[in-house]
Amino acid sequence: MKFSVGPAMVMAFLAGSVGCGSGEPSEYLDPVGRLLATSESVFERANGEDVWEVVVCRIPLQSTDPLYAMLDDRMERDAVEIARLLQPVTEYFQRWSGGRYEPRFVPASFAVSIQATDTSQQCVEHAFEQSSPSSSGVLVVADAQHAEGSEGGRGGPGARCSGDCSAQTTRRYVYVGASDFMSVWGSEPPLDLIEHELGHGLDWPHSSLSAEGLDDVEYDSPYDLMSNNASAREVDPRLRHGPGILVVNLLATGWIDPARVERWSPDEDSRVVDIVPRSRLTSAESIAVAIPIDASTFASVELVEASGDDAFHVGDFVLVHRIVVIGETGFQRRQHLMSGELREGDEWSGDGFTVRVVRIDAGAARIEISGAA
Ligand SMILES: [Zn+2]
Repeated sequence: MKFSVGPAMVMAFLAGSVGCGSGEPSEYLDPVGRLLATSESVFERANGEDVWEVVVCRIPLQSTDPLYAMLDDRMERDAVEIARLLQPVTEYFQRWSGGRYEPRFVPASFAVSIQATDTSQQCVEHAFEQSSPSSSGVLVVADAQHAEGSEGGRGGPGARCSGDCSAQTTRRYVYVGASDFMSVWGSEPPLDLIEHELGHGLDWPHSSLSAEGLDDVEYDSPYDLMSNNASAREVDPRLRHGPGILVVNLLATGWIDPARVERWSPDEDSRVVDIVPRSRLTSAESIAVAIPIDASTFASVELVEASGDDAFHVGDFVLVHRIVVIGETGFQRRQHLMSGELREGDEWSGDGFTVRVVRIDAGAARIEISGAA
């Protein structure tokens, strides 16, 4: 995927050149500050109640959109039932925001439909047209299942807004096919796809296990809702939620205080830092370490505890991600894993620093960070 080069990116490039080329101490580099500045517009809708209007879209059996499977069965649920089934999604986001964010699913009083020659995007357009001014997003569920191998859904944060932030104005939406809401799932449908798409509604980007994976659009990381959202139920089919959320995304929505992220610069002596798991949202303890690499890039070191939404992992471990803050939206940010799962005694080096996991116990990790030898 190519990213557009906006003014912010040009600025970042210039600042990065000065910082590195002149040998300026890296403490002047503030990629985390840059992340916070680009995320500010999301804070308001990511904190407090966020009304998503649930709309069912009827797809004709003769639909020519190749997105849809050639099947003649259709989802029977209506928007009222779907909104009720999504209650655990609200709880998932309340857990991961420490109670700061409450997506609320309100059934629309109407359904929409498309013509046989329309595409799925027409479902979204019709939903915008009829949506309530009090809805800040439309969540459209097609009544037809998608063809095998095609996307499960999509979503986006819409335009920035001030004053009128209705979905009609911003065009903020989530769209999914019917698969997860077919009656075969009973009253417990998988929710991880909807959670992932709502993450896009908060302007979160994808992540991958490698930079190449990002370029190839591989959603392969089991450590991030915004990568392989199905990773928990791939391990245990009874699970319904996505995995946990990367600290960088929690920062970008204002769900953790930036003061909880320790900054370590490669100019400093080695330092030992204790961090708590990323799932500990309601605490003042350090939750991650950020290491600036250049003016727009940093490494994020965090602890994944194998409990709650991350309970499908085996044991606790530390992860190091490389975050590149580019473009003017969160979706353009590049996030990929640099380390593997770091356990007690493991160390990882790269980009001019070394992370050593001194110990992991009692719900915390002690980490030593130093310049690369
Ligand atoms: Zn996605």
